[in-house]
Amino acid sequence: MKICFVHAHPDDETLATGALIAHLVREGHSVSVLTATRGEMGEVVPGPFSKLAGTPELEVRREKELAGALEVLGVSDNAFLGDSPARSDGLPERRYLDSGMRWVTKHVAGPADHADERSLCAAVEEDVVADISAYLRHVGAELAISYDADGGYGHPDHVAMHHLTQRAAQEVGIGFAVVTHDPGDDVRWYELNDLLPVVIHALSHHQTQLTVHGDTLTHSGGQPDEVKTSVGLKGDLPG
Ligand SMILES: [Zn+2]
Repeated sequence: MKICFVHAHPDDETLATGALIAHLVREGHSVSVLTATRGEMGEVVPGPFSKLAGTPELEVRREKELAGALEVLGVSDNAFLGDSPARSDGLPERRYLDSGMRWVTKHVAGPADHADERSLCAAVEEDVVADISAYLRHVGAELAISYDADGGYGHPDHVAMHHLTQRAAQEVGIGFAVVTHDPGDDVRWYELNDLLPVVIHALSHHQTQLTVHGDTLTHSGGQPDEVKTSVGLKGDLPG
């Protein structure tokens, strides 16, 4: 089956769905990844990369980090939203910028106070849906997978990609599933601990975003996290 994961920022594909992508590839599915932004607003791991914060070099660096991670996971095709072929026919290419966020509680994010007018959340929704649809058609996707309605943790770009990917999947006439970390009714649960080394290897490419220590990691802002290898899918499921 041809499956397209639609994410908001570089590193989300590996943090949220790295084990699932590697698993689906090993099961013989063809997996592509569409990334909406280059994570321009995200923090940078303190140290040698600090100087990249707020510069165009950060975007270039994060494109390379993403490419490295996707190669480890076995992804066959990827694009950034707004770049051909993830751009509707006839329109000039554009970039969707990271909309940024602020913490509302310790674990829940909300919209930043000021988002750039070129940001994903400021874009015309129909345009974003058309660009996602263009990519889904380009890769011949039969199933699109994105975040749950809360975007995983509330980041406005994640929430937007949930809704807009669902609309694009409808427009193209393919299935849609969401990633969940809560096993429950109607959830297909994957325990993929054997893929931990693959996920750690893929994460190690995202050096400006996180630091891996064994099977745990530290985000750029210093928050500790575990490397997740169990995940659920809800909605239309891979055959
Ligand atoms: Zn993200």
